[in-house]
Amino acid sequence: MEYDQVLRLLIGTRIGERLSSIQKLYADLDRAQKKFTDIFNVHCKEGCGSCCEHFYPDITNLEAEYMAFGLIFQEKDQEVLDMIRSIKEEPSSCPLYKKDSAYHCTVYGVRPLVCRLFGASVANNKEGRPVLRNCKWNPNAWNISTDELEKHEEDLVTMGSYGTQMEALQPEDTATYPLLEALERAICKIRFFIQIESDPEPEPNAS
Ligand code: SF4
Repeated sequence: MEYDQVLRLLIGTRIGERLSSIQKLYADLDRAQKKFTDIFNVHCKEGCGSCCEHFYPDITNLEAEYMAFGLIFQEKDQEVLDMIRSIKEEPSSCPLYKKDSAYHCTVYGVRPLVCRLFGASVANNKEGRPVLRNCKWNPNAWNISTDELEKHEEDLVTMGSYGTQMEALQPEDTATYPLLEALERAICKIRFFIQIESDPEPEPNAS
């Protein structure tokens, strides 16, 4: 099935609305983060993927469904499903990390929120003041004081704010699950959805 066909299937469906909402949220975040990282010069080191080597995310079902759609469009869904099913123990680093690929992430374009925020965002401390969420493998990100951050308050990318916006997209289902568990479930669900929606209308019974 072509990309455009699948997009047409989504129009007017609840799942389609949710996926376009998350796409918009990520696009807004990309724009905000570009400005934020330029202002504070907290760009990740070229070729670094250390955060993924030391991290295994929990994600929501909605984030997983967005990832599943991306994988189906790229025809990587079966490969990832096979990989997920071959893993027998809970991993300590992200199994979607690929050292040799361009962005080191098998699902880079549709990666979950926490991966997008990591190392390029702030969190509010007990006094409600911003603190840079440093990546300990990124030496450029160490020395930005709260006072300095507050000078650019309107350009800060705040973790809690994006987390809240994500929860608002599907308030009835905000629980998080280990990435592989959620992604396996989502691939199966989205495949089923596409199959149901793309089945031709049954022929009327001639008898
Ligand atoms: S999903 Fe991608 S960006 Fe996130 S931890 Fe895994 S490899 Fe890294």
